[in-house]
Amino acid sequence: MLSVRLCEYAGSDEDVAEGIKHCIFHDENYLKGENYDKNKEVRTRFQTKLSSGRPLNFSGYHLPDISFRDYEFSVPLDFASATFTKGAYFLGAKFKEAYFGRATFIEKANFDGDEFTEKADFGRATFTEKANFSEAIFTKEVDFFDTQFQIADFSQVKFLNEIRFSGSEITFKDETLFRYTIFEQPNSYLMYVIYPRCRLLEVIYERSHLRTRLNGEERIILR
Ligand SMILES: [Zn+2]
Repeated sequence: MLSVRLCEYAGSDEDVAEGIKHCIFHDENYLKGENYDKNKEVRTRFQTKLSSGRPLNFSGYHLPDISFRDYEFSVPLDFASATFTKGAYFLGAKFKEAYFGRATFIEKANFDGDEFTEKADFGRATFTEKANFSEAIFTKEVDFFDTQFQIADFSQVKFLNEIRFSGSEITFKDETLFRYTIFEQPNSYLMYVIYPRCRLLEVIYERSHLRTRLNGEERIILR
């Protein structure tokens, strides 16, 4: 009989067979290539974990296309260093604490209409295609420190607390839109972006004291 031991990824609670280093969630090669059965296997096992009532620690996971549309996360969610190999579909989802630091989003990332009711971290995350956050609400602080964007849409987003778009490595490779975006706490709002295709249009600041460095088009409404 084969002996069973734990996956070598720090914090993983998955068993693996002897001679295997990583479980199907932490093996970066498991989903490589178009393998319908493996995608289905990972998706099914992941959904079981998601509804198991256990802490949502999915750091370092490699996931196929899974929809979290309108999903309500009732406990903190940890996707730090995770890789979404076929897009991330979180539209309309509700989060408590959400950790996406150093995550990689291959294909589209949809966070439109989401509600982040606790701290959200996207620091050092990489978006390889469009990141759509339009109409999302961030109630507590949110961090985009050194985040790598391609196309990003923050139109009509409400930032109700601290926000950081900063870091020497933060990159907007293509058009990034802040249209009718609301910044309620500009005192704690930090935007240090020098990138010509990042545009703040009809942005609404609830108070003054801006800390903005931006080369792109900028039209601001103060109220
Ligand atoms: Zn593992």
